[in-house]
Amino acid sequence: MFGAYPYLLVLVSGLIIGSFLSSITYRIPLGKSIKKGRSFCPECKKAIAWNDNIPLLSYILLKGKCRSCRKKISLRYPLIEISTAILFFLIYYFYSFNCSASLDEASLQDICFWKLHLGSIAPPFLFLAISLLITIFVTDFEHQVIPDKVVFFLFSIFLAVNLLSPADNFYKNLFVSLATAFVFLILNLITKGKGMGLGDSKLVLSGGVSLGWPGTLVWIFLSFWIGAALGVSLLLTGKAKLGKPIAFGPFLVIGFFLTLFWGDYLKNLLFPFLQ
Ligand SMILES: [Zn+2]
Repeated sequence: MFGAYPYLLVLVSGLIIGSFLSSITYRIPLGKSIKKGRSFCPECKKAIAWNDNIPLLSYILLKGKCRSCRKKISLRYPLIEISTAILFFLIYYFYSFNCSASLDEASLQDICFWKLHLGSIAPPFLFLAISLLITIFVTDFEHQVIPDKVVFFLFSIFLAVNLLSPADNFYKNLFVSLATAFVFLILNLITKGKGMGLGDSKLVLSGGVSLGWPGTLVWIFLSFWIGAALGVSLLLTGKAKLGKPIAFGPFLVIGFFLTLFWGDYLKNLLFPFLQ
C-alpha cells in the first residue's frame, strides 16, 4: 500500500510540472514572460479557468476542446504532461534500486551515480535537469530554438554538483564537456550551420559534467544513430526532403534519457572494450 504511494506522488508531480513546461515552451520562443499572465486559449484568447486547467484531466473531460470556442486544444499539452510524468516515474524507479558500485568505481554517471552522490536530493535534482531537457526538446522541435538561458542553466547545475563532488573527476568531466562542445562547434563550421546548430554545441557541453566518460560517448553515439534512423525513414516515407534541416536537439535529449536510464547496459553493448 505505502510502496505505491511515492510513485503516485511522483506521477502527479510530473503531470503538474509537465503542464508548467507545456506553458513555458509555448511562451519562451514567442518572447513572452513566463511569470505573469494566466493561461489562455490561443484561438479565442479567453482565459482558462483553474478547473479547466488541471493537467491531463481537463483535457480528457473537455474532450480536447476549448470550453468557450470549442476549437481543438493542441495535443502537445497532454503529450508534454504525460512524457514528463513518465520520465519522473522512471527516475524514481531507478533511484529505488540498490547501487552496487561505489562512487569512485562508477565510470558512468547514471542514476545510481547521482544517488550515491546526492542521496535523497538526487530525485528533485534530476527532476529539474529532466525538466530543462524537456523544455529544450520542445522548443527545438517546434521552433528550432535552444534557449541560451535554459541550456546554460542545465550546464551550470551539473557543473556545480561536480564541483562539490567528493569524487575526484571534476577536471576530467569538465574536459570531456569542453572537448565534446568543441567537436560540435567544428561540425557546425564544416556544415555551415546546416547540419549542427550552435545550440547543439551548447547542449553537449552538459555531457561530460552529467554523464561523464564514457557516458558522453554513448550519449552522442546513440543520438546520431537515432537521428540517422529517423531521418532515413522520414526520407523513405516522403515525410522529409533531402537538404531540409531537421533539428538535432530532440535526438540529443532522447539519447540523454536513454544513457541516464540504461547507460551501463548500452555501454557494454556498444563499447565493450571501454572501461
Ligand atoms: Zn477557445
